[in-house]
Amino acid sequence: MPAETMQFKTELKQLLHLIIHSLYSHKDIFLRELISNASDAIDRVRFMGLTQAEVLEGNADWKIKLIPDEANRTLTISDNGIGMSHDTIVEHLGTIARSGTREFLDSLKAADAKERPDLIGQFGVGFYASFMVADKVTVVSRMAGNPEDAVKWESEGQGDFTIEPSTKPARGTDVILHLREDAKEFLDQNKLHSLVKKYSDFVEHPIVMDIDDDGKKVEDTLNARKAIWLRNKSDISEEEYAEFYKHIAHDMHPPARTIHYKAEGQIEFKALLYVPAQKPFDMMWGESKKGLHLYIQRVFILDDCETLLPKYLRFVRGVVDSPDLPLNVSREILQQSAPLEKIRSNLTTKVLNTLEEMKRTDFDKYVGFYNELGVFLREGAYQDFENKKKLAELLLFESTKTDAGKFTSFADYVERMPGEQTEIYYLVGDSREVLEQSPLLETFKAKSWEVLLLTDPADEFVVDSVQEYKGKHLKAIDRAGVDTSNLSEETKTRFQPLCDYFKEKIADIADARLTNRLKESAVCLVADEHAMSASMERLMARMHRDKPLPASKRILEINPEHPLVQAMEKLFSNDRIDARLEKHARLLYDQAVILEGSKVKDPLTFAQRLNELLLRDAGG
Ligand code: ADP
Ligand code: MG
Repeated sequence: MPAETMQFKTELKQLLHLIIHSLYSHKDIFLRELISNASDAIDRVRFMGLTQAEVLEGNADWKIKLIPDEANRTLTISDNGIGMSHDTIVEHLGTIARSGTREFLDSLKAADAKERPDLIGQFGVGFYASFMVADKVTVVSRMAGNPEDAVKWESEGQGDFTIEPSTKPARGTDVILHLREDAKEFLDQNKLHSLVKKYSDFVEHPIVMDIDDDGKKVEDTLNARKAIWLRNKSDISEEEYAEFYKHIAHDMHPPARTIHYKAEGQIEFKALLYVPAQKPFDMMWGESKKGLHLYIQRVFILDDCETLLPKYLRFVRGVVDSPDLPLNVSREILQQSAPLEKIRSNLTTKVLNTLEEMKRTDFDKYVGFYNELGVFLREGAYQDFENKKKLAELLLFESTKTDAGKFTSFADYVERMPGEQTEIYYLVGDSREVLEQSPLLETFKAKSWEVLLLTDPADEFVVDSVQEYKGKHLKAIDRAGVDTSNLSEETKTRFQPLCDYFKEKIADIADARLTNRLKESAVCLVADEHAMSASMERLMARMHRDKPLPASKRILEINPEHPLVQAMEKLFSNDRIDARLEKHARLLYDQAVILEGSKVKDPLTFAQRLNELLLRDAGG
């Protein structure tokens, strides 16, 4: 078969251009990327070999070899990993621009030149970093279980690549970099050695190079290959922990917490986990499938996110290693095995306890973490029934007793509760500003009772599922069910006819009733005790734009202490067909709609009615 020429995907072309032109001062990272690919390829074939020994072809002396060649000015990175076939090489090294590439490009363009290399590393554009140091890259690969079908891929990193059949006796991949004139330094053995130390020391497989030892050629292993998670805590320095975190999480910031422990008893395992301080880069756009790395006796098994921790903890990075798991079984069987379940629940508890400890002892840091990753804990609060109590402990909210942008927790709230208060109150809305204006807060302010101000759309689901904290019910203050018992019988009888009048005239409400929850305001709207709140309705409306749900009717609550209500009552008892009454009633209702943060149904008529009043006031 002759060589075929194929075009890179457009986005890949742009990516290549950017990598080559904005990263020239950080050329180093190409080596880390290629070694990481080689190591992944070895992990994959080793894993396959556990159940299909024949794919190993008796070649299981895992190795990544660096071969600098002065004469030809090439550097080859060779592995005996899984290899690639014609189709996979086209797919992986040329045509597929992975999801999020567009967004990544935009952020790369916007980023500080200084931050770009880290961004690239985190996104893992990996292989293409080769073109920073090479003006031509040749990849010769042979896939496991496919002895006849070697393939050669070649490109100058411009717009296209060629691909043709080739021969390769050993399974695996050789990446041959034809180094640019200004990248000759990567032929230097000392340079290569120090780069491996710097970036790839934790790589589990030996990274080797032939060196000259007194005229004899010997293979030297360049990396320490230390499985840091298996070592004793006391022997590991802060820097080592931090380095390993960078290696595994591709995060340039230090983690918020490092958790390293050994579980013994029913099941034995070692875990080294990190709680990031920032939202992991691979979670910025869309979902990442990567999670904790699972090893069984130092053999890498898998790293998908839902195996070792519940989904909402997918921001946690790290390694778990257990000798108690079955090694020679398929992924599916492993995922359902009982010991794995135990590990999972143990890890979950550990992470939640660590977060709780951070909140208790290092609140500012916890707030920083929460601002970035609190969204996942809220997700957990309505998903993880078993750990509901722990998660409730971890939630933070703004309230009428915090400054804007500052947080409190259920624990602090309960601590501040005056003796006669029995419930935890909250109000949900679009923003703190709108919530603070709500007439519903008036009685609470007067009594100095705290109200949590919830502004995240997910908060409503969270409180619905948390329901209570230490025996105190969570109660939305925009629901009916307020006690009117301290209104006198006389007031009730006097104002009831006016309530009935409101109900008759305003078709949009389910009921009109007296309340003593207001102080300065004349009226307010509340939802029926079990109905959706106003903010939930707005949320649903946004979600079902094309097919709006019928709005549920609210209850209009009327404050009999308010002078305006009292004046209306007078007017009403004198002459119940006075034409002004209906206009007043409608204006009051619209006012309540606005204060609730919703939209007036007919703004034009609202304005006309208001103008009529203004005109009268101005003597017109
Ligand atoms: P990533 O490693 O994040 O997937 P890369 O650009 O580094 O992105 O590599 C793209 C893909 O090319 C890899 O996912 C893998 O499928 C394939 N690949 C790259 N290098 C090798 C290799 N040495 N052996 C086998 N496959 C490889
Ligand atoms: Mg890679």
